[in-house]
Amino acid sequence: MQRQFLLQQGDIPTHWYNIVADLPVAPEPPLHPATNEPAGPQDLQAIFCDEIIGQEVSGERWIEIPEEVREGMAQWRPTPLYRALRLEKALGTPAHIYFKFEGTSPVGSHKLNTALAQAYYNKRAGIKRLATETGAGQWGCSMALACSMVEIECTVYMVAISFQQKPYRKSMMQVYGAEVFASPSEHTAFGRKVLAETPDSPGSLGIAISEALEDTVTHPGVKYALGSVTNHVLLHQTVIGLEAKKQMEQSGDYPDVIIGCTGGGSNFAGLAFPYLADKIAGKEMRVVAVEPTSCPSLTEGEFRYDFGDTGQMTPLFKMYTLGSGFIPPGIHAGGLRYHGMSPLVSLCKHEGLIEAVAYHQQTVFDAAVTFAKAEGIIPAPESAHAIRAAIDEALRAKEEGKERVILFNLSGHGLLDLGAYDRYFAGELNGDS
Ligand SMILES: *Cc1c(COP(=O)(O)O)cnc(C)c1O
Repeated sequence: MQRQFLLQQGDIPTHWYNIVADLPVAPEPPLHPATNEPAGPQDLQAIFCDEIIGQEVSGERWIEIPEEVREGMAQWRPTPLYRALRLEKALGTPAHIYFKFEGTSPVGSHKLNTALAQAYYNKRAGIKRLATETGAGQWGCSMALACSMVEIECTVYMVAISFQQKPYRKSMMQVYGAEVFASPSEHTAFGRKVLAETPDSPGSLGIAISEALEDTVTHPGVKYALGSVTNHVLLHQTVIGLEAKKQMEQSGDYPDVIIGCTGGGSNFAGLAFPYLADKIAGKEMRVVAVEPTSCPSLTEGEFRYDFGDTGQMTPLFKMYTLGSGFIPPGIHAGGLRYHGMSPLVSLCKHEGLIEAVAYHQQTVFDAAVTFAKAEGIIPAPESAHAIRAAIDEALRAKEEGKERVILFNLSGHGLLDLGAYDRYFAGELNGDS
């Protein structure tokens, strides 16, 4: 039986897929925080370049990928799609389990797909430097490398507690030439204000976003980059699903269930949106978003307008949210600690196109270890949420004695997250939510 489904070198999609063109209802626009009026392109010009703003508001179905971006991605794309034969055997399931593996990019996750596109457009617009924030460091690494690839500067505000506890991602960013500040930092007025009030502040994504935005709007030639949530980021990630569809065709199977973990929604959408086009056209399938019980925006949040950040500086987005003041506990899947959810993923949930499920991290790590022993790849804790759901689908198929084709996204490897695995083996995850 075939294990690997490879595409030819250079066989990378020529266009990104924009689901807005096919959704049964139009997305509601973001609102300006001061006026509560729909925010127009001009409201975004202080932080994004025009090409990216155009993609953010586009209703066009297919958007061409620039040749330079395709050439850059050719270093790690097309990424492999595997059938998890040894996992199927270990579970004794009649299900066929497939996964798309995004951990083969130089930074080890899907995030480089959009980082490269964003760096490219900003370089072409004459931008000299990009400012961004990072939590656990996956996004900061991707942005640092992408900026190095197109030769512009990069400044990363990294949540202070991660800066101290996850030093290797900080080291990677420095290797790629980025300037990295522990946030809150002395580098911005907002950071200095937080430090004056709380000298030993552990920081938060909300504070780091505010610092990156302040850096952007107070310096000429600087723009801001975001790693998830927004429409243009989800668009750039659709290379994952477009490739996967071709690879699944080689396998002769068509997925009954498609699964991805959701922090801000980008890797899930990247795999799922090209398939949702088929579902909207009448094809039967289930599409499942997986989140942590400690940050359950899709399963327990409200669908309403809310701010994208804690400092309430961003526009208001219509999305599933736990409230912009919600501070999730410090679970190991740092990439899934976000109070909201991408407006497009939220709309798909609201329209009944996708479903959502939440898992506790203990059971997520059980699944991660089962998977790693069978398939050899140690998954990022974020990605392990998708594995938990895939394994449960496979076990249900076994109980029901039914064949079922399952496809999930393995968004990144966990080789820089081994400390979290240590805590799991030490039995220290049980108490956390
Ligand atoms: C950041 C990250 C996520 C979560 O972000 P999404 O935008 O929801 O994809 C998931 N997996 C990995 C490996 C990540 O680095």
